[in-house]
Amino acid sequence: TGLYFGHRFESTTAASDASTTPPVERYEYQAEVSRLMDLIVNSLYSNKEVFLRELVSNASDALDKLRFLSVTEPELLKDAVDLDIRIQTDKDNGIITITDSGIGMTRQDLVDCLGTIAQSGTAKFLKALKDSKDAGGDSNLIGQFGVGFYSAFLVSDRVVVSTKSPKSDKQYVWEGEANTSSYTIREETDPEKLIPRGTCLTLYLKRDDKGFAHPERIQKLVKNYSQFVSFPIYTWQEKG
Ligand code: ADP
Ligand code: MG
Repeated sequence: TGLYFGHRFESTTAASDASTTPPVERYEYQAEVSRLMDLIVNSLYSNKEVFLRELVSNASDALDKLRFLSVTEPELLKDAVDLDIRIQTDKDNGIITITDSGIGMTRQDLVDCLGTIAQSGTAKFLKALKDSKDAGGDSNLIGQFGVGFYSAFLVSDRVVVSTKSPKSDKQYVWEGEANTSSYTIREETDPEKLIPRGTCLTLYLKRDDKGFAHPERIQKLVKNYSQFVSFPIYTWQEKG
């Protein structure tokens, strides 16, 4: 151990008893991510709807990666043949889930991808963002600078990412909240949440943004922003 890029500073379950549920590990975000999230959560109020474009584009990238790898490793497709994106809305509870059957993430990927920012453009991004803050900021900058995942926090109090890489026999859950400097990772143990492969993102919308959890709203955004995605995008509504 000790290879994790993110700093692990707490384990909320006693590690000594191997028979109980796996521990929840807590990690601190890289400082740049904390700054970025703070800006996203507390300074950007316009054009919030870009979150969907960013998350659908990540789902599409994940499907592209899987499709590319499967050319030489066809067995990667064996657990789920369909390559698609599913967006489910629960308007009563203000929840959106976005599921793809793409490449997924290993535990190490979660730490590397959703706790740090690899690109050196981040400093530039933060500066551009500051300069544009006059009219509530420009959320489009988020997409331009490739820090798309964190745009989930434009509209969410809490984000849960449950993901299964075909290279791992385990599924892991990343969980982050707005206005905190840390996130957690644990193994997925809920049998109802297990997926054969890919990633399921759950957005718990902020009180004022629950309106996004309407199927018509999502369909319109998909039409406007994601019409060139080359995988099928299905939307449906939780029965109330
Ligand atoms: P970018 O897409 O420009 O790399 P993001 O912030 O949008 O930046 O995403 C960060 C990284 O997180 C991605 O590069 C990818 O490795 C990982 N990631 C995000 N969403 C998914 C997903 N649905 N499936 C697999 N990996 C993902
Ligand atoms: Mg992206």
